[in-house]
Amino acid sequence: MSFKPRETRMKNEIHTDVAIIGAGSAGLYALREVRRAGRDFLLIDSGPLGTTCARVGCMPSKVALHMGAAWAKRNTLPALGIRGTEGLSIDHSAAWARLREQRDHFAANAAGMTHSAAGDKLLAGRARFKEPTLIEVESATGSCYVRARSVVIATGSRPVTPAWLEGIRDRTITTDELFELDALPPSMGIMGLGAIGLEMGLALSRLGIRVVGTDLAPNIGGIADPVIAEHARSRFAREMELWAGVETRLERTDSGVLMHTGDRKAEVGLLLAALGRRPNLEDLGLREACFPIDDRGLPHFDSATMQVADLPVYLAGDVTADRSLMHEAADEGAIAGYNAARQIPTRFARKTPVGIAFSDPDIVTVGARFDSLPPQDIIIGTASGDSNGRSRILDATESVLRIYADATNGRLLGAAMLATGGEHLAHLLAWAVQRRETARDLLNLPFYHPVIEEILQSALQDVVRQRPSSAAYPMGLAPADRS
Ligand SMILES: Cc1cc2nc3c(=O)[nH]c(=O)nc-3n(C[C@H](O)[C@H](O)[C@H](O)COP(=O)(O)OP(=O)(O)OC[C@H]3O[C@@H](n4cnc5c(N)ncnc54)[C@H](O)[C@@H]3O)c2cc1C
Repeated sequence: MSFKPRETRMKNEIHTDVAIIGAGSAGLYALREVRRAGRDFLLIDSGPLGTTCARVGCMPSKVALHMGAAWAKRNTLPALGIRGTEGLSIDHSAAWARLREQRDHFAANAAGMTHSAAGDKLLAGRARFKEPTLIEVESATGSCYVRARSVVIATGSRPVTPAWLEGIRDRTITTDELFELDALPPSMGIMGLGAIGLEMGLALSRLGIRVVGTDLAPNIGGIADPVIAEHARSRFAREMELWAGVETRLERTDSGVLMHTGDRKAEVGLLLAALGRRPNLEDLGLREACFPIDDRGLPHFDSATMQVADLPVYLAGDVTADRSLMHEAADEGAIAGYNAARQIPTRFARKTPVGIAFSDPDIVTVGARFDSLPPQDIIIGTASGDSNGRSRILDATESVLRIYADATNGRLLGAAMLATGGEHLAHLLAWAVQRRETARDLLNLPFYHPVIEEILQSALQDVVRQRPSSAAYPMGLAPADRS
């Protein structure tokens, strides 16, 4: 399909080189590239500014986890001889107010960056396509039309709230509302135990809220590796009620919601729906503007260029419904912005996938997922916190790491873990996978003692031991370069 814009001019039509719809993380990275290329632009956002990540996503959720960890720490102190913890108390409203203070700081920073990068080219209003490069923008003061040479769609996503929650809508919140609560209820149900549901369930239970978490899927945190999944289930079942792999029914009661399965029931004050996120596409009028879309309403796009079919239109961030993470939104925004500012799109290499649930012990997936690898083609190197000195000191003996290596050459393909400090191991492993390192070569790098990274060393050694070897040198040593 070769796209030609119509010649007719609309009333209130503004012309620009690149229109960016959405001033979230992806949109701001796109804007940086468009500005770098010296192209004219308009940044359109319906508000509020400040990005999902800073306002209701990555940042406030990590503050909540940090607070939960701080309060839960008191339970471990008596074993260290520290007395008097029973005299401590927590003011949930004050804790949540502090969370909002930190959140406001992050969001104000992001909003400030938006204003200083876009200046008077920030157009406040809701965008809807008339044609692939003609956008109607409705604002409080009326509507105008933006005609652009190219467009970046970076409209993000929103929490899914299915129709079956309708009867208890007033007792159900999403992460858009969670951080706005004035007071935390004594008990909460979490529907959906992916990374977001699990993180929030743990943060709340560590803050002393009774939490019942449930998911249709048996594996929590989106883990594909059955060994890690089992460890995670039994580890976190000690902190919150976990009903995984079951259908939970919900009934309104006088003061809350009754959650029940065949043989279990619990009444909670409030439900958090953490049932996934839906891309903000429906209101963009893509079908009417003749975009090529699939039956889910998603435009066809190439993840190396972010281009939609062969239109001068690019997608970036959560709106793609793929890799819904902040660092991916940033990369996609940069790719989309770079290409939108040029005639011919460049294909960019995408980075090794990494997923982290900051559940402490963290749930981590790096590179190829377990269920995508034929068992006969891989070697699995395993190590646990039980035999890692630093993990013992930190009371983190339940950590477990599984590395998947190519059976033919020992090259790292992926990994999964439940580990204290997993967020850091995740990076080392992702860098190694992306650089196509082998287990043997990685062992030639230094490992300090006593550190959590020694778990990685043990798992790599386990890979090397399982491979046929003719190496004359000790594991972890290479001969000096004689040249
Ligand atoms: C609770 C939670 C925790 C998370 N934790 C993490 C984490 O730890 N690590 C991580 O990597 N990711 C995390 N994420 C995901 C991360 O926040 C998102 O991947 C990221 O923020 C997506 O950025 P975006 O630019 O695509 O969307 P957004 O930041 O949502 O930006 C979209 C923008 O588009 C605007 N918009 C929408 N529709 C229109 C329209 N029609 N017209 C004009 N403007 C419009 C909106 O106003 C918004 O400003 C978390 C998410 C949540 C909800």
